Amino acid sequence: MRMSKPVVLTGLRANNELHVGNYFGALLPMIDMARERSSDYQINLFVPDLHSFTTPIDHSRLHQQILHNVRLYVAAGLPLDNSDIYVYRQSYISAHSELTWILDCFTGFGEMSRMTQFKDKSTKLGESRISVGLFNYPVLMAADIVLYDASYIPVGDDQTQHLEFTRDIAERFNNQFGQIFTVPLPVPKQHEFFGKDQGLRIRDLIDPTKKMSKSDDTGRGVIFLGDDPAVAAKKIMSATTDSYGEIKYDIQDRPGVSNLLQMLSLLTGEPLDAVIAEWEGKNSYGDLKKATAAAMADFLTGFQARLAAVDDQTLIAKLEQSEKILRETANATLLRAQKAVGLRA
Ligand code: ATP
Ligand code: MG
Repeated sequence: MRMSKPVVLTGLRANNELHVGNYFGALLPMIDMARERSSDYQINLFVPDLHSFTTPIDHSRLHQQILHNVRLYVAAGLPLDNSDIYVYRQSYISAHSELTWILDCFTGFGEMSRMTQFKDKSTKLGESRISVGLFNYPVLMAADIVLYDASYIPVGDDQTQHLEFTRDIAERFNNQFGQIFTVPLPVPKQHEFFGKDQGLRIRDLIDPTKKMSKSDDTGRGVIFLGDDPAVAAKKIMSATTDSYGEIKYDIQDRPGVSNLLQMLSLLTGEPLDAVIAEWEGKNSYGDLKKATAAAMADFLTGFQARLAAVDDQTLIAKLEQSEKILRETANATLLRAQKAVGLRA
């Protein structure tokens, strides 16, 4: 069964608690996109649970984390009653794993070795903790995409090389076996489609020269979506600023203060320009921190209330319904590939 509307596919890896950077930089745009585009596109939102442990994690928490991530989608505004939006768990559709193996055998060792994400992540991990899964997860990602004939995949810069690889392997397979896979659109077309500026980067509160990151060791400069609002406000109050003594928006020279302005804008929904106009030239960093801290506490209080109100039964019913439908699509693609390589008549 080929779907008739063009497919947009996206997901968010569940390997740790998400922070406000993930929320404003990835989760919220993803949910907004799904809502805005669902009349013209089929939206596939998935939890890439098989991708969760390409790097070591606490496996006793994974199962909860998977469901928790879907709850986060809902708290961020995902409607569960929209039949053009599919929400599913990757590992519940076994074709992902099965197609990956087939594609693995058409993937060059050399081409995987050139993936910069692998190089970056493996340098950080150290030899003994680098898995073959980390090495070939781009192949799993290619399977995630081609199984549903997806055309549009909104990914950040760190994933563009993998998207290019997906195109390569789909074309390679098609050249050898005929029209088996839909090739996703090239990266510039993706950017055009999403009109995107994937450039938003919330900074770490302690070291504002680097971005807020979930795998930060201390978490002191990171505000997690599950943080107690009062604790989060305190983190903002002790954020690193600068010694200029005057508020100015300048990410390069004054990353700490600029980060506060940026967060204030996102948290209140006021355009950044307006926030800058209101604060620039003032001298009290304390006031800016207080305003940002209060906005953060309000946001977290509201978000956590929405999260607590998510009904698990409705959520699981939605997942199971999506998985049932998409399993058929995925299996049909898998069968085309199995026939192509001679596994099926
Ligand atoms: P890790 O430390 O495990 O790499 P991370 O916090 O960098 O975690 P990712 O899982 O790499 O998060 O990214 C998830 C999504 O969140 C991506 O789309 C990424 O662009 C976005 N994102 C990550 N950090 C930030 C940030 N500080 N500001 C805005 N967006 C962010
Ligand atoms: Mg990252």
